[in-house]
Amino acid sequence: MVTYDAIVIGTGQAGPSLAQRLAKAGMKVAIVERKLFGGTCVNTGCIPTKTMVASAYAAHMVHRAAEFGVDVGGGSTVDMKRVKARKDAISGKSRTGVESWLKNMEKCTVYEGHARFESPHEISVAADRLTAPRIFINVGGRAAVPPLRGVEEVPYLTNSSMMDIDFLPKHLIVVGGSYVGLEFGQMYRRFGSEVTIVEMGARVVHREDEDVSAAIQEILEGEGIGVRLNAKCIALSKRGGEIVAHADCAEDSLEITGSHVLLATGRRPNTDDLGLEKAGVAVDQHGYIAVDDQLRTSVPGIWALGDCNGKGGFTHTAYNDFEIVAANLLDNDPRRVSDRILAYALYIDPPLGRCGLTEAEVRQSGRSALAGKRPMTKVGRAVEKGETQGFMKIVVDAHSKEILGAAILGVGGDEAIHSILDVMYAKAPYTTIQRAVHIHPTVSELIPTMLGELQPLTG
Ligand SMILES: Cc1cc2nc3c(=O)[nH]c(=O)nc-3n(C[C@H](O)[C@H](O)[C@H](O)COP(=O)(O)OP(=O)(O)OC[C@H]3O[C@@H](n4cnc5c(N)ncnc54)[C@H](O)[C@@H]3O)c2cc1C
Repeated sequence: MVTYDAIVIGTGQAGPSLAQRLAKAGMKVAIVERKLFGGTCVNTGCIPTKTMVASAYAAHMVHRAAEFGVDVGGGSTVDMKRVKARKDAISGKSRTGVESWLKNMEKCTVYEGHARFESPHEISVAADRLTAPRIFINVGGRAAVPPLRGVEEVPYLTNSSMMDIDFLPKHLIVVGGSYVGLEFGQMYRRFGSEVTIVEMGARVVHREDEDVSAAIQEILEGEGIGVRLNAKCIALSKRGGEIVAHADCAEDSLEITGSHVLLATGRRPNTDDLGLEKAGVAVDQHGYIAVDDQLRTSVPGIWALGDCNGKGGFTHTAYNDFEIVAANLLDNDPRRVSDRILAYALYIDPPLGRCGLTEAEVRQSGRSALAGKRPMTKVGRAVEKGETQGFMKIVVDAHSKEILGAAILGVGGDEAIHSILDVMYAKAPYTTIQRAVHIHPTVSELIPTMLGELQPLTG
């Protein structure tokens, strides 16, 4: 048994930074990784997908080049081996960066293998036994495979196995019309695949407002992506060398025949093989580790950070979990999860930047609010760039004048949303941003204009 001051399980977005802070504070630290250093974001999530979204954007703009007066002569082709090589290089550099950072970290020992609790303060990693008074769980999650009829009979892909693809699927069927599915769907369409998105619900990205879902569907369909909604009972089967998705389990249901199928129907936490029961750590009905506002689990001395606690689901929220735990443990600074304002982006093109409540959530809350909306066709920067799809919208509290939430679906939306987010963090009234002089020409400069045209949110 080797004794440490702290053990960190997982090298995703919270673990390595926490290990560094603890080691710098003088603790003897162990960190355990069972697979790829850097976890999901670095290897199979944000970094590789956004790298490929960039390749897809390049292909799309080459396709549109004539609109800008640029002659690329005789069309273009996408070399998927080079797309993958670029993705592998960028993702690989990040992975090896995390690995060498940890392996060279003073007072930190790296164990490579699957960690399991043996008791509240003991961990096994293969033949090694480690003990510490503080254990930090940062095990992340993986693609959930839904119990669709026939799913085990077809060679399905997930966000992880998609990373090995170095060819163009003839027809990619994407099961799941949410964030991961839409990003892959649009990028493969732009690479040249036929793409059909099959969604069980009545609209894509159903957590967003209806106008956001509708505009996104229009963008995707405008690029030739098939979108099949209300697929209440999806079944999969093999026919010859092809995969058939039935959008309804009835014998005579609509069939979509494709060459490959990607399952993008959500994530599940990596908590099922962690020995949590031996430690007495409580989980919810979906396997997420139950934590309080400072990320303490039900067992004193054990914390859970990142996707496995079900409080975030993003890289920035996992990293913020590290900041919260470090602030509480080392800085006497009582930071809390509830200080966080929901914010994220969907990286289709144009992207969707989001923060705070949706308009629907504000309506449900019954509070009196003001709302503003502006199409990207009325944003000079978007017009100049020839990228006028989408809109920006905002909802503010009619009494306090604080911003409740916003969405920017449009070119630069993932960046422009931050001026709104920062004013929300400042708890300043919307008039602060309305009176700010933003740079011309930018997407952000129309946010003050939109705020000058607010109308009561009715109905
Ligand atoms: C396709 C896709 C695209 C995404 N794009 C974005 C994006 O653009 N922006 C964004 O903010 N988020 C994005 N995300 C989400 C983001 O990747 C995750 O929220 C983030 O990686 C969570 O970090 P984490 O530290 O909680 O866990 P992870 O990054 O999953 O890391 C957990 C680590 O723990 C290891 N581990 C698990 N169990 C054990 C064990 N028992 N023993 C030892 N090690 C173990 C794993 O191998 C892994 O390395 C995306 C996700 C996907 C799937």
